[in-house]
Amino acid sequence: MPSYKEFHARSISDPDGFWREQAQRIHWQRPFERVLDYSRPPFARWFVGGTTNLAYNAVDRHQATRGEQAALVYISTETPSGEPAEKSYTYAQLYREVNRFAGILKGLGVGRGDRVLIYMPMVPEAVFAMLACARIGALHSVVFGGFASVSLATRIDDAKPKVIVSADAGSRAGKAVPYKGLLDEAIRLAQFPPAKVVLVNRGLAELPLVAGRDLDYGRLRAEHMNDEVACEWMESSEPSYILYTSGTTGKPKGVQRDTGGYAVALAASMEQIFCCAPGETYFCTSDIGWVVGHSYIVYGPLLNGCTTILYEGTPLRPDAGIWWRIVEQHRPTSMFSSPTAIRVLKKHDPAFLTRYDLSSLRLLFLAGEPLDEPTAQWIAQGIGKPVIDNYWQTETGWPILAIPRGVQALPSKFGSPGVPSAGYNVKIFSEHDGSEIGADQKGVVGIEGPLPPGCMSTVWGDDERFVRTYWTAIPGRMAYSTFDWGIRDADGYYFILGRTDDVINVAGHRLGTREIEESISSHPNIAEVAVVGVADSLKGQVAVAFAVVKDAGRIATPELKLAHEGDVMKTVDSQLGAVARPARVHFVTTLPKTRSGKLLRRSIQALCEGRDPGDLTTIEDPTALEQIRAAVAR
Ligand code: ATP
Ligand code: MG
Repeated sequence: MPSYKEFHARSISDPDGFWREQAQRIHWQRPFERVLDYSRPPFARWFVGGTTNLAYNAVDRHQATRGEQAALVYISTETPSGEPAEKSYTYAQLYREVNRFAGILKGLGVGRGDRVLIYMPMVPEAVFAMLACARIGALHSVVFGGFASVSLATRIDDAKPKVIVSADAGSRAGKAVPYKGLLDEAIRLAQFPPAKVVLVNRGLAELPLVAGRDLDYGRLRAEHMNDEVACEWMESSEPSYILYTSGTTGKPKGVQRDTGGYAVALAASMEQIFCCAPGETYFCTSDIGWVVGHSYIVYGPLLNGCTTILYEGTPLRPDAGIWWRIVEQHRPTSMFSSPTAIRVLKKHDPAFLTRYDLSSLRLLFLAGEPLDEPTAQWIAQGIGKPVIDNYWQTETGWPILAIPRGVQALPSKFGSPGVPSAGYNVKIFSEHDGSEIGADQKGVVGIEGPLPPGCMSTVWGDDERFVRTYWTAIPGRMAYSTFDWGIRDADGYYFILGRTDDVINVAGHRLGTREIEESISSHPNIAEVAVVGVADSLKGQVAVAFAVVKDAGRIATPELKLAHEGDVMKTVDSQLGAVARPARVHFVTTLPKTRSGKLLRRSIQALCEGRDPGDLTTIEDPTALEQIRAAVAR
């Protein structure tokens, strides 16, 4: 086994040799002719001429060796009592379900290159639908279940699906969230409505069927019970799916993923980063509506012959120990979650972390937003396992930065997601002239082209937008911008310092809202904080903070509140200087976030400036925004 340094250096200097070896991890129906075609930068084509199929690699290939092994374990605590209900599918059973669903889609006229929009809760049928699409060469576009009609309509019009797969309802903390009304309204708003809608009836909500359009999945499944559907052999660069970015910073972009490169990259990452061997169990708590769910609930574990856990529910029901109870029962070796989820658990009794037998678990991976040190330490100590931060984007499909413990168990550094993964030629660039910036200096985190296998091929239907958005932000270079600030230290570890559009300008000083947030967070009574730049006639912009306190007693009266605000400001003064001091610190009990745990800074800022908060479909808790509105009005 080479050291990390050799391993990564070779992936950059000899991409041909490196990825040719990695490509052996998957089945190629027809071998590729070339490893990489980068003749038309920034468009990279990996494994040119090779044909393969994601579903074949995820399901069929394991039939002979793992037919009786569990492939998918569905655990739902969205039951009346909150007690988990389970259903497990072996690789043989998964194969049957995927073939049935593929038969249904084919029967509805869906073929290679057609799109299928999946608007589903976290149920096994959603996974069957994704794999069925892959099987027949159709592109799935999973839209987070429960998104509001307008944003669903926008995604329908962008992807133009032939069929939509949906359900009567999702469920959240034991309460049904009906989908059908939202879906009908979205289809009514859409310019390019689907011809057919396949509906899974969970018996949670009314499910009136529109004649000629809506079809019951249960009935269709019975009709296609014995279908065997051949895999469509896709050229490696042919698209496998479209996934829209979270839209934290702007209009969601339809990230288009290829087939062969994605399969190779995910299979490699399962070993190199996630250290989960074939036959072992992987537990990712994300949602299939997000990229983490695509890559590490569905494709990564299955491509690698693992057992994957599909969890429907919150981390708190029936109690805050549920995830650890699942670990005790199902014995995953790797687990993947997010800092937000851990912060949610942190509000509850730490005894939950030690109540269950976690001996199977080797590593806990966290990604999606900055991992603060107190949260990392709390969970690492609580469960007694190493916590591995990793940094990536919907666009990249798998980690850009991590500690690749499957290659070499490099030490972690708090605050750093680690070092570049295979094939990522990560650099820190000057946003002014595109020059490379040395160690310990802040700049834009960029990736010199080509992006490695598995990353986005283009923006769906809009090559021009792909180039303009990602490849022109770093001047004079064919480099991909992550739109995140970062620093590389002398040991080659990267630190992410916030998004490039989170910079504010106070009286000529450029300040990162993230730095101010970190400073405020270091105050012992602050649990969480969001800082935004708000237009100010005098200073151009001022920082305004919204903070959640740990001990509400300390802000119980208006006088105490004022004193506490001053105290928080002092913390910033002493750490960053008075210029970074927020003009106001408002106290709230919760912050507006997306369901994937990202702060909706754009919406907070809009409210502060008296503007419309914009697209709020991804918001976790709408009342959080009301608190901002009320705080600002005061
Ligand atoms: P949009 O691009 O539409 O505004 P988004 O960027 O929120 O949406 P994602 O692709 O889900 O959508 O998020 C990727 C971003 O999340 C990264 O660019 C980075 O800002 C942040 N992020 C992810 N993981 C980490 C991490 N480990 N540490 C710090 N930041 C992270
Ligand atoms: Mg982004």
